[in-house]
Amino acid sequence: MRLTEKCAVFGVFGRRLEAARLVHTGLWTLQHRGQESSGISVADGTAIRTHKGPGLVAHVYDEPILDRLTGHVAVGHNRYSTSGGAHADHSQPVTGDATLVVLAHNGNLPSVTRLLAHLEQRRVDTDGANDSELMHRAIEHAMRGGAGIEAAVRESFDLFTGVFSMLLMTRDRLVAVRDRCGIRPLAIGAVDGGFVVSSETCAIDAVRGTFLGDVKPGEMIVIDDDGLHASQIVEGREKLDIFEFVYFARPDSVLMGRVVNEVRQDLGAHLAREHPVPADVVIPVPDSAVPAAVGYARQSGIPLDFGLLKNRYIHRTFIRPAQRLRESGVKLKLNPIPGMLRGKRVVVIDDSIVRGTTARQIVDLIRGSGATEVHFLVSSPPVKFPDFYGIDTPRRDDLIAARMSVEEIRRFIRADSLGYLSYPAMIAATGLPEDVFSTSSFNGVYPVDLGEKATLA
Ligand code: AMP
Repeated sequence: MRLTEKCAVFGVFGRRLEAARLVHTGLWTLQHRGQESSGISVADGTAIRTHKGPGLVAHVYDEPILDRLTGHVAVGHNRYSTSGGAHADHSQPVTGDATLVVLAHNGNLPSVTRLLAHLEQRRVDTDGANDSELMHRAIEHAMRGGAGIEAAVRESFDLFTGVFSMLLMTRDRLVAVRDRCGIRPLAIGAVDGGFVVSSETCAIDAVRGTFLGDVKPGEMIVIDDDGLHASQIVEGREKLDIFEFVYFARPDSVLMGRVVNEVRQDLGAHLAREHPVPADVVIPVPDSAVPAAVGYARQSGIPLDFGLLKNRYIHRTFIRPAQRLRESGVKLKLNPIPGMLRGKRVVVIDDSIVRGTTARQIVDLIRGSGATEVHFLVSSPPVKFPDFYGIDTPRRDDLIAARMSVEEIRRFIRADSLGYLSYPAMIAATGLPEDVFSTSSFNGVYPVDLGEKATLA
């Protein structure tokens, strides 16, 4: 059973729309959430067709493929994965025999005991299926028994013990469902007489849609020819993963009413207050730490410069399975601008340290380019606890802050100083109350039961 799906989903319903084309644009905009594979399913009222494949959106589709994906309802998925090695194809949408329902899932079920027991009792084959595929089989089974999609989701909801921001599609209907804590985001928009549902609002902007609101935790939204119908399946209790603000979401997305870019700048400003450093220049680790570095520079008065150049065409180092590959990955990806940092006291800002591999190499690069001092500041607290909700921060042993003190990490990355943002300052920067967030990576409090995975936390 694989355990790692931080992904993107995007769905469209609209009689006047070329649904698959819009999904394609949406997925392109959400590429940062997953680069392993991409897929689109589309329906025209009679049949469901799917195209999916490994790699980036740019590689998976071409014009003839998109031309064939005709219909007014479509869902798409970008898959993210960190585990390596040979494995079965778990690309999404999950189709089954693709006559009844397809599913696109962002999130992860830490526990599938209940779901497996339910399926096995009904003699549904579960062999080799991951969490998303098991969810699909449960819904499909209910529909084969005569339930409509809405009833099938309602019946199955309590079997899904974990995290899901999920889209389902039948021949003539689009359904969006979010787990009772809303750990992963899911937003709705209106576009040209139809609707879109997206992991992030930036992709609603990309299709020239208007943001209408978020799918609420525990809510199901059904979209068909009669419009949009919302119903609350279970009582919700918002617990968005704060890591969406720290790192995952695009800065131009809006989460819980706050522009991610502004929150990241505020994280940087708080960092400047907590960790003032006499320095000549502030540089971000591109691209994700740019807003935090802007906030730090503004608050401290130290000039901001872009001392590290990022190769845009190499994707997140994290997706490389082996540590060795990751290490060569940073050198491929980042290069200091010659001469810029020579003789300077440098503050370098990153959004997070997970394993510590990246930070150590960045300090080396900056020192190698002639900096006299390298101060490494992080716009989030130490990541001490593994993730089970779909973002794949790894096993506890691999998390450097679970094993070492801040001073030990400083020595390991060979920085002159190392500072992390405090937990209260992180919460303050969001401008939202602490209890609307899941902060498990930082404090080990897991709002969604981990079931059989609890021993790993
Ligand atoms: P490392 O400490 O070497 O494991 O990697 C930390 C770097 O990876 C930081 O620069 C982050 O921007 C980035 N990062 C943090 N969390 C994740 C994640 N779950 N997936 C991909 N990249 C991440």
